[in-house]
Amino acid sequence: MTRALLVSLTALMAASLPAAQSRTSVVMLGTGTPNADPDRFGPAVAVVVDGASYLVDFGVGVVRRAAAAERAGIGALGVTRLTHAFATHLHSDHTLGLADLILTPWILERETPLELYGPRGLRKMTTHLVAAYAEDLKVRETGGEPKHKYDPRVVHVHEIAPGVVFRDERVTVTAFAVSHGIWPQAFGYRFQTSDRTIVISGDTGPQSHIEDQCRRCDVLVHEVYSEAGFAGRPPEWQRYHARYHTSSRELGAIASKARPGLLVLYHQLIWGSTEDALLEEVRSAYDGKVVSAHDLDVY
Ligand SMILES: [Zn+2]
Ligand SMILES: [Zn+2]
Repeated sequence: MTRALLVSLTALMAASLPAAQSRTSVVMLGTGTPNADPDRFGPAVAVVVDGASYLVDFGVGVVRRAAAAERAGIGALGVTRLTHAFATHLHSDHTLGLADLILTPWILERETPLELYGPRGLRKMTTHLVAAYAEDLKVRETGGEPKHKYDPRVVHVHEIAPGVVFRDERVTVTAFAVSHGIWPQAFGYRFQTSDRTIVISGDTGPQSHIEDQCRRCDVLVHEVYSEAGFAGRPPEWQRYHARYHTSSRELGAIASKARPGLLVLYHQLIWGSTEDALLEEVRSAYDGKVVSAHDLDVY
């Protein structure tokens, strides 16, 4: 990271009053989509509570972005402290960082195996990824690296159903089903801590009743696509997007019912339109506070 970016990040964090004053903050590690935008890494959001971090999704670059957040002062996102992750669904843009999340912290001496939560199929994906690195593991374990803290083949995978899926002294995590095209299981997550309620949509169409999860919640992180950009897409892609994702105006209507303290747009599909236009589209249907997130923003 350049020094200028580091300074602006630090300033941003200091200026972000909710994050500075509360015990819970939301760190946008990656706000991207499958589009290979060099400024937006794959989807990954961290909820940070009292020095612990909980990841939602692990798109490409998740470990590097966590390291950047640590460098900017968020110790809970130190690479070896990435111990809990919740997958919304198994689309590749949300899971391309899984091998990284399993292996890199292990090499860097994380103390415990990863605790991984998500839909059916996550166990199989994990097993295959670990198997794919068999040659690497053999060399690392027998080739002279200092002894590691645990067997990297061990990943504690929890395939979940909607409901409370995790609870510790800091947070209760509730998974809820969302509608994301033909995916048999796709989840959003609600994080309840002592001071804030955070709801993260994951990828979803507009009919998932997110308002039932965020009834005046503090922060709603929601995916979105631009209506102006959508208008220029080929019809076959329009049919796909309309089925799998939520338009700016649809999100405005959802937020009007959910009434979050702050609506955070992520996984923005803009397609040649602009972020300002996207925000205007949402605002045309919603009069609450809304921001369009960038990687490493903190709320
Ligand atoms: Zn996605
Ligand atoms: Zn998806």
